[in-house]
Amino acid sequence: MRVTPQGLYCVPGDFFIDPARAVPRAIVTHGHADHARPDHDHVLASDATLAIMRTRMGEGRAGRTQQVAPMGEVIHHNGVDIRLVPAGHVLGSCQVVLDWQGSRIVISGDYKRRPDPTCLPFEPVTCDVFVTEATFGLPVFRHPDPADEIARLLHSLRLFPDRAHLIGAYALGKAQRLIALLRQAGWDRPIFLHGALLALCGLYEGFGVKLGPLEPVPLPQKRGAGGLLAGEVVLAPPGAEATAWVRRLADPVICAASGWMRVRQRAKARGVELPLILSDHADWDELLATTAEVQAPEIWVTHGRDDALVHALALRGIKGRALYLLGRGEEDEEPAAEPVAEASA
Ligand SMILES: [Zn+2]
Ligand SMILES: [Zn+2]
Repeated sequence: MRVTPQGLYCVPGDFFIDPARAVPRAIVTHGHADHARPDHDHVLASDATLAIMRTRMGEGRAGRTQQVAPMGEVIHHNGVDIRLVPAGHVLGSCQVVLDWQGSRIVISGDYKRRPDPTCLPFEPVTCDVFVTEATFGLPVFRHPDPADEIARLLHSLRLFPDRAHLIGAYALGKAQRLIALLRQAGWDRPIFLHGALLALCGLYEGFGVKLGPLEPVPLPQKRGAGGLLAGEVVLAPPGAEATAWVRRLADPVICAASGWMRVRQRAKARGVELPLILSDHADWDELLATTAEVQAPEIWVTHGRDDALVHALALRGIKGRALYLLGRGEEDEEPAAEPVAEASA
């Protein structure tokens, strides 16, 4: 395994994992844009990840040839055994397990350990080298119980029945998990979606993830008229609250669902009234528990707070290595990562 400007490259297998640029052969762990890039010649991924890539990029750019790797099944390629196992991050997300000449490396992509009704749970695999993210790799990051965050949202809905509740949530993963958590908490009213969220919610349902009644946010009756959807839950991509689109909603309570909502200044800077700490990444405790569970003597950290994690691993006798992968980051957690489709309501 070699670290190149395009990302992780498996030398004997002659393929990249989550490369930052178009390459001849890629394995893609999941559909977030910092992992799934367009225009590879050949893409190996889970069926859901390939479907997500086709939805987001269009059929023509999601890989000239696409190969489905069924979860858990071994694929032999140039003497390397390739196996995808669930990562618990978003629908279709997987870790890549590579066995070659008696040694094993696991590339985990992005992952979390909390239960998520919208995807398969993370499966720890023992290995010689474990490649991990460290998005929330600082001891201050300990994610609260998602059920408590949903309870705070429901409390606010009871408190402000005359206001719409607009929640900024990333279009892939966070939006669907939020909806599923609301359903688990008993919210059975229709949930209203910004146009930019419709396609991926439909895709999740196509893969058997039940999201309950969903409706597009209606157009205002008159140009510039507001007052819509008082007492309802409205989901939109982060950043929509800063566009003219928001004016149609009844005095919206601006909420955001993100692991970064732990950081008060971030919530404040974005004008978020009700920050919901809901992350699809492992927190500090989960990073340490996972690195211990996979029993790898060597851990490579792709991105995030690698310094703190590498230091903590050294105290436990584990060799850590920061990879400083380019182009990897908070894309799936950060505001306004995608253009907001204003026209589609
Ligand atoms: Zn991701
Ligand atoms: Zn990522």
